[in-house]
Amino acid sequence: MDKVECVVIGAGVIGLAVARRLAQAGREVILLEATEAIGTVTSSRNSEVIHAGIYYKAGSLMARMCVGGKRALYQYCRDHGIPHRNCGKLIVATSPKETEKLQSIRAHAEANGVDDLQTLSGADARALEPALNCDAALLSPSTGIIDSHAYMLALRGDAEEAGAACAFHTPLLHARAVGGRIELDAGGDAPMSLECRLLVNAAGLSAPAVARSIDGMPIEQIPPAYLAKGNYFSCSARAPFSRLIYPVPEPGGLGVHLTLDMAGQARFGPDVEWIEKVDYTVDPARAERFYPAIRRYWPTLPDGALMPSYSGIRPKIVPPAVATQDFLIQGPREHGVEGLINLFGIESPGLTSSLAIADYVGELAGV
Ligand SMILES: Cc1cc2nc3c(=O)[nH]c(=O)nc-3n(C[C@H](O)[C@H](O)[C@H](O)COP(=O)(O)OP(=O)(O)OC[C@H]3O[C@@H](n4cnc5c(N)ncnc54)[C@H](O)[C@@H]3O)c2cc1C
Repeated sequence: MDKVECVVIGAGVIGLAVARRLAQAGREVILLEATEAIGTVTSSRNSEVIHAGIYYKAGSLMARMCVGGKRALYQYCRDHGIPHRNCGKLIVATSPKETEKLQSIRAHAEANGVDDLQTLSGADARALEPALNCDAALLSPSTGIIDSHAYMLALRGDAEEAGAACAFHTPLLHARAVGGRIELDAGGDAPMSLECRLLVNAAGLSAPAVARSIDGMPIEQIPPAYLAKGNYFSCSARAPFSRLIYPVPEPGGLGVHLTLDMAGQARFGPDVEWIEKVDYTVDPARAERFYPAIRRYWPTLPDGALMPSYSGIRPKIVPPAVATQDFLIQGPREHGVEGLINLFGIESPGLTSSLAIADYVGELAGV
């Protein structure tokens, strides 16, 4: 059986950032990926927004890692020439009741260290975005957008330059913890057995299933997996906005918001649809709920402008009735298995937080 210091499972944005972090610390790293390429699952099915860190529960891993990860990500983009735009976002209140909520959103953001929000009157907001219908708004200057594929390519490049190896078409099948080491069997094109000192489970939606495939991992420490799909619609009309536009959040989600890609194309969503099995089909009928929601802040959205686009699935570890979840990052202190780190529930803002999550994993691993 071949021996290697570290194995990372999953070449999404998190596995790539972790592999880079470990390799740059001088560790020998193999990244095992079930599919044919990097970033083909949730990491290519998101909004590509660099989040400010406004809504997460104060003191949560999400709050800490989003704020720290955002700073690190902007710096990384500047250093590596990754296409990104610090375009800002407006949180838009379209009724007096929503306007009342803006103050508490701002206070919550400040508790998370997001201290740059600005309260705008409706007229001030329309001076920035003339097509907007709005009573009042919050401007978040540190929100932005990123070309997530260019970012993942750069992470892979850094990791490989530091000596990491990527093995594609190589799913982890089974592993066992044996006296401080972990033995594992991978399948695919070139099945292999390996022994490592550190195994990082960054398998995204499959992280709970991967944890269950590790003999010695206490089953009661593995969270259940729930799937919350987010559907996106693109817009055939040119959306006359240069910032991201979010409504005041509603229970269970952020509401139907407008984000932009690096080419300036607007997309609306994601909404929240709880599903039983992975299925990325976007039901065109869901547009009927999008039109009235969008027209509250963009009244001139033309009829027939929305087209089904793509979807992504949030790796939930709490059921629909539970309003919020946090990242769940477990090391040996939590589950008792030496050399194993599990990353569960890495939903939004996982992309923004990726470098901070990688640092946290590095600390847990003592590198
Ligand atoms: C709808 C939606 C919108 C989002 N928008 C944003 C946003 O705007 N900003 C933001 O910061 N975050 C956002 N996120 C969150 C972000 O996309 C995720 O947190 C991030 O992509 C998770 O990356 P990952 O590497 O953990 O998972 P993934 O990208 O899913 O990667 C996991 C990898 O593991 C591989 N794998 C699985 N099982 C195995 C196995 N047994 N062996 C080997 N490989 C395996 C998979 O093939 C996959 O490549 C959004 C998420 C969703 C769903």
